[in-house]
Amino acid sequence: MKIRGAVLEEIGALRPYADSRPISISDLELAPPLSGEVLIRIEAAGVCHSDLSVVDGNRVRPVPMLLGHEAAGQVVELGDGVDDLHVGQRVVLAFLPRCGDCDGCKTDGLMPCVPGTVSNNAGTLLSGGSRLQRDDQQVHHHLGVSAFATHAVVDRRSLVPVDDDVPPEVAAVLGCAVLTGGGAVINTARPLPGQRLIVVGLGGVGMAALLTALSCPGVEVIGVDTVPDKLELALGLGASSVMTPAQAIEAGLKAHSVIECAGNARAFETAVQLTAPGGKTVTVGLPAPTSKSEISPLGLVAEARTIIGSYLGSAVPSRDIPIFVKLWRDGKLPVERLISALIDVEEINEAMDNLANGQAVRQVVVFPDAEPGLGQSRTQ
Ligand code: NAP
Ligand code: ZN
Repeated sequence: MKIRGAVLEEIGALRPYADSRPISISDLELAPPLSGEVLIRIEAAGVCHSDLSVVDGNRVRPVPMLLGHEAAGQVVELGDGVDDLHVGQRVVLAFLPRCGDCDGCKTDGLMPCVPGTVSNNAGTLLSGGSRLQRDDQQVHHHLGVSAFATHAVVDRRSLVPVDDDVPPEVAAVLGCAVLTGGGAVINTARPLPGQRLIVVGLGGVGMAALLTALSCPGVEVIGVDTVPDKLELALGLGASSVMTPAQAIEAGLKAHSVIECAGNARAFETAVQLTAPGGKTVTVGLPAPTSKSEISPLGLVAEARTIIGSYLGSAVPSRDIPIFVKLWRDGKLPVERLISALIDVEEINEAMDNLANGQAVRQVVVFPDAEPGLGQSRTQ
């Protein structure tokens, strides 16, 4: 079928992207779902720093690539062998499929799925190859999802169904920001009542971590970022205090757990510095592959510290999305407040500039043209 989507043509274009326009809005041919795959009509797709990192070259991926990995939509067609979803059902698209069988999947989320990581790095679906074609050219998938488009074909193992009362833009943000930031709290940091938790880096992922930590009983939550507007939002969301990195270090602030969600070595080092002896530093950001930090091995031992990486919030999406949906339904996870703008896919280059300039938390691309008969698209 014919679809329309946002294709990254070149890596490392000059900013502003509004001028260099590395992402074009293209007509593509989407192949039907193979066995074990599902055709989705995309309703909403969030713009994450991991999309920007492909555009600026920090995450090296093959191009041309149809970007977008944080999304929700409705099932349109089921490939052979998929019998546990139905047409019209709303689904969250998770950016790492789980084969369910490998050494990673056996860790219940702590370690990423191994074949899922291989196919994501290659820009293919889990069962191999691309379903996206533009003229004679193959276009790569982004993280098994490629959601800045009217439709996507994805592996069943990239999907988690949600009820229709979850609006598409909320469901989309559950797929990356909440699963990653929230998962880093409930699966990786696991704060106890009476403890303090600091989030360093308050974009979509960090704000989702902050919100999730605020839903944990008796946990004191502090936000750290360099951008005053982000600090103000974190305070409005309920953080007990907010600081710049310099203020936090100057004040000698320490916490039992510190979650780094910025994506650079400096923020990681700040997070380690703010972690109390005996505490846990959780690192979530994805800096450039060349970036390095120095750690004192003696300090790690003598102060009984833990430093742990968390990919996809150490989550099992089918287990954890329902937990976050329940928190949202109970009013404890107001995901809507992380959405700074609803945008059209045509504005994607400008959206990348806004994210790079620190002017957005979550911008969400919406595809409002619901096909009749596929269920209700709800927005609040
Ligand atoms: P974002 O919206 O760009 O947010 C990052 C925030 O951190 C920005 O407000 C940024 O400010 C701030 N920051 C930068 N340097 C800082 C420092 N030294 N100290 C404190 N704050 C600092 O990004 P996002 O979409 O939330 O993603 C965050 C990171 O997580 C990215 O690296 C992304 O690739 C990664 N990620 C990881 C996973 C995973 O599975 N582990 C999943 C999704 C995303 P400025 O805007 O001024 O720089
Ligand atoms: Zn993401």
